[in-house]
Order: sequence, then structure tokens, then C-alpha cells
Amino acid sequence: MRGRGRPIGMTTWRPLAALTDLMVPELCGGCGRPGAPWCGRCAAALADVPVELTPRVPLPVTAWALGRYRGPHREAIIALKEHGRRDLADPLGQALAFGLVELHRWTELPDRSRLRLIPAPTRLAAARRRGGDPVTAVCRCAADHLGSRVRVAAILRTRALTRDSAGLSAAQRSANLSGSVRLVRDRSTPMPRPGEDVAVLVDDVLTTGATAAESVAVLAAAGVVVDAVLVIAGA
Ligand SMILES: [Zn+2]
Repeated sequence: MRGRGRPIGMTTWRPLAALTDLMVPELCGGCGRPGAPWCGRCAAALADVPVELTPRVPLPVTAWALGRYRGPHREAIIALKEHGRRDLADPLGQALAFGLVELHRWTELPDRSRLRLIPAPTRLAAARRRGGDPVTAVCRCAADHLGSRVRVAAILRTRALTRDSAGLSAAQRSANLSGSVRLVRDRSTPMPRPGEDVAVLVDDVLTTGATAAESVAVLAAAGVVVDAVLVIAGA
């Protein structure tokens, strides 16, 4: 029966996968409603003004969040990080851009011509498994929305032995993080210049503030003055 029918295997799974994609309705990454990958209601919730946070671990700069860790903020972060919804980097980046403009308008950020967004460190292995660091992707989308004077400085990494912090208590997180953030320099990553650039540390969630505190300290030791911390959601 050679030549009749199509062999089942590598030649057929690709078109089948494409067909499956077509049949699955687009679901909003914030509320799960069908129709659009990010609905107007969730976009409006994310475009609210930033809220000031009071982290348990004290920070030398003010920490802000686009909102609390619930509703569309929480769902979007989980969808982006855990369910591979890379398409959500753009609406989140847009919301981040809006938050940065608001903070600047409130004079909570210094009035300098250039802005550097520094993504909080991610464990490299974890980032690779998730298809690249989602926070860096959100920062890049925000920079695209804000123009050429805004760039992403992905200069922080966590050391290889650090455990992923998901599921750890506040004390465990601090212990897990101590000495875990390091600075990387290479020609492609612009180092923020004190007095010339506004430097904002960006993360998806701020829980205890331990990651942010250590990141700000590591940056300060390298001569980078962080002007503010801005996260998508504050716990
Ligand atoms: Zn929605």
C-alpha cells in the first residue's frame, strides 16, 4: 500500500498543531474572557496610576507598583511567566511605560533626558526554560513605546546556585538571596550613568523587597544610582 495515505509522524504534526491553534479562541491573559489576547477592561485596570509600596525589607529608594498582586495584574504575570504568554509582554510594557510617564509627571523621577530600565535579576536557567526573561521582554516593550532615549540595561543576574524563590518564605527568600545578585558588563548593555540617566529597577512582583534591596545595593557598589523601583504588581 505504498504511496497511499500520509505517514503519521513528523510530517503531519506540524499542520495539525497549526490547525489546533486556529480552533482555540483567543483568551484574555488578564481575565480569561475570549475574543482578544488582552481585553479593554484589563488594559484599563493596568493603566491605573502607580501605587507606592512599603516593602518589609527597607529600600533606599521609593518602590512603586502598577497595581496590587490580584486580578489582571496577577493573572497577566502568571500567564506570561508560567504559561508562555509572550504576547502579554507588549500590553504589560505599555502599562509600564504609562507608569513611568506618570512617575515623571509627579516629579518622582529626576528630570533627565535619558532613562535606563534595569530588569531585576533572573536565574539564567529558569529564564531559558521560560523562553527568555519575561521582565526584560516587558522592559523592552516599554522602551519601544517610550522612544529612543529609553533603553534597557539588562546588567543583573542571579548566581547559579540561587534557588528559584517561588514558594519560599520571607526569611528563606532573604537567605536565598544574600550575595546572590551580580552585575554583568558587556559592550551591548549600556551602563546607566549617574547624573545623566534616570535608572529604574523593574521587576514583575515585589513581595518582601529582598531582591530589590540587594539589586539596588549591588548597583550602588558599581556606581549606578537607582532612582526608583517599579514593579508590575506589589504583593
Ligand atoms: Zn481581560
